Amino acid sequence: MATAPSTSSPLSLPALPWAENALEPVISAKTISFHYGKHHKTYVENANKLIVGTELADLPLEQIVRASAGKADRVGIFNNTAQAWNHDFYWKSLKPKGGGEPPSALKAKIDSAFGSVDACKKELANAAVQQFGSGWAWLVLEGDKLKIVKTGNAETPITQNLKPLLTIDVWEHAYYLDYQNKRVDYVNALIDKLVNWEFAAQNLAKG
Ligand code: MN
Repeated sequence: MATAPSTSSPLSLPALPWAENALEPVISAKTISFHYGKHHKTYVENANKLIVGTELADLPLEQIVRASAGKADRVGIFNNTAQAWNHDFYWKSLKPKGGGEPPSALKAKIDSAFGSVDACKKELANAAVQQFGSGWAWLVLEGDKLKIVKTGNAETPITQNLKPLLTIDVWEHAYYLDYQNKRVDYVNALIDKLVNWEFAAQNLAKG
């Protein structure tokens, strides 16, 4: 017997890992309030409207992203669920008093792939600044090697056989209230002061 399609709203908006003003002065409470409370929330709400009654409705978020990627009839589901996933990962990629030196296991991996932590940070910043239009810059693991990639709009490494370790949102809504058109200033401040290397190291350590 087939199970009835779900009519609930299975995806929820995860809580932020810190208070809305915790990233000041690098990212203002006002930016977080709009970015999380309007943009991220709307992706989750739209995703729930689009998956209701479909065979995807009862799957975990990450599986919906993978199942809808590259499907012409599921563009809306992909865009909204991938953005929901990317944003949750972005919040975790940031922390108050972040930056500094990565934990030793991650640092060794970074040194091996990029030569130094500074070179890694520079490549990450370049990817974030050079992404044309909306998108994301990522530190990812490909096989056993770290690399920097950028993705456009809602695209996400989890559909590309890459394991993301951390990300930077470079959609204008992530920085425009605080930095206007100066994306480079947002990116450099974020990498210097907010990047959560411990989160990246935890992702590296996951099987
Ligand atoms: Mn965003």
